[in-house]
Amino acid sequence: MDKTLERQLKRLFGSLENVSPQCQGLISVVNQTYKDFQNEYKLIERALDISSVELNEVNQRLRHEIKIENQLTDKLKKETVIIEEIVQTRTKELIIERVKLEKIAQNMKTGAVLVNNQGEVIFLNGQARMFIHFFNDDYAGSLVKLYEVFPNYPIEEYVTRSLAGEILDLDDVQENDSIYQILFQPMFDDSNPAGSLVWIDNVTEEKQLERSKSELVVVASHQLRTPLTVTKGNTEILLDQSYGTLTAEQKIIIEQTHESNEKMITLVNQMLDIAKIEQKEFSFQLTDIQVATILEQVIKDLSSVAEEKNVQIEYKPNPDALPVIKGNSFRLYQVFQNLIDNAIKYSRSGDCQLKIIITTVVSDTSISITISDEGIGIPPSEQNKIFTRFYRASNAETSFIDGTGLGLHIVKSIIESSGGTINFVSEENKGTIFTIEFPIQ
Ligand code: ADP
Repeated sequence: MDKTLERQLKRLFGSLENVSPQCQGLISVVNQTYKDFQNEYKLIERALDISSVELNEVNQRLRHEIKIENQLTDKLKKETVIIEEIVQTRTKELIIERVKLEKIAQNMKTGAVLVNNQGEVIFLNGQARMFIHFFNDDYAGSLVKLYEVFPNYPIEEYVTRSLAGEILDLDDVQENDSIYQILFQPMFDDSNPAGSLVWIDNVTEEKQLERSKSELVVVASHQLRTPLTVTKGNTEILLDQSYGTLTAEQKIIIEQTHESNEKMITLVNQMLDIAKIEQKEFSFQLTDIQVATILEQVIKDLSSVAEEKNVQIEYKPNPDALPVIKGNSFRLYQVFQNLIDNAIKYSRSGDCQLKIIITTVVSDTSISITISDEGIGIPPSEQNKIFTRFYRASNAETSFIDGTGLGLHIVKSIIESSGGTINFVSEENKGTIFTIEFPIQ
């Protein structure tokens, strides 16, 4: 029996024996109720214990989180202060840089005009103001002034095209005894055209210097021509043996002199041509000419050189008569001579005989001549440079093949001055194919 119920019954009845038997049923029900109550009480107590532990834990966790949050807030505040300081310093630095850049731009020897994509000038440096004689405080009207200062050149068209994204260049702009070079550079904002920067350079001094250098080359080359021609004539007479039979040794020495003299003549002639190209005075008369006749003459003249190098020239004359083109026989001879001589020169001499194939193809509008060889080829990374004067590909240099790097520059000028084009494809150690194309009148 439950102890509390027992105590209460003893207090009421003195002892448990005094409790009447009729009450026993009731007492056992009450006793059961007490037991149930106590069990429930224990359960509630345990539940309370558990929830108070949990509450405590939650409380602690919350406190910890609040602490961390406070720490983070403090850190954030400190970082914000640091960032603000950095931003301020950087802004100051940028302002200083901008001022510096503006000073540099203002005092540059090159004139700079910055145009936005609405076609308005938003910056004009001191030199540009001098070039276009514009000294107003605001830039309104400065672009029109730029067009007026160079009336004979398409400045307005080039500004418009460069605003659309094209890089353009006007070389040799001549105005009032001065020579300018003008570059039109598009500006981009996230790859969208955002304006154009026009750079104007006064290159009068450089051009004059270039001109006097070219003049010096022309004079020196002319002076060299006479003694070289005399040496050529004399060595030829001696080799002819008209003045007596030569010993084998004498013949070798004179042949070497003749060969070196020939190289000097070629070099002097090339220097003269280059000087004329630079002075924009490289012009020649164009008449009706027969390509095949000139080509066949060059092949004939170079056949002994090819034979010496164990190279076979295969030329299949076109079965149809070739139409005439407008050109200059002497200059076209020079073109074929240079290209076929290169094809022979850059063929590797070895045991097996290499081939040079020359063909002519006629279409309704043009004649194309191809010269293909099985030589050393041109390395891909150097192919865009071989028409530049004095440029020789690295494999030509390392193969110790003689050359000046001037021939192709002259060849290109001759072909373009005759209205034609020159292209090539080449594979290193496989060969090169040059194709020249002339329009038919
Ligand atoms: P070069 O006197 O050096 O031959 P060119 O102007 O005629 O001068 O040619 C320029 C360069 O182009 C050469 O030095 C050579 O590197 C390369 N080249 C020209 N033709 C050929 C060819 N047929 N095969 C390989 N390389 C060539």
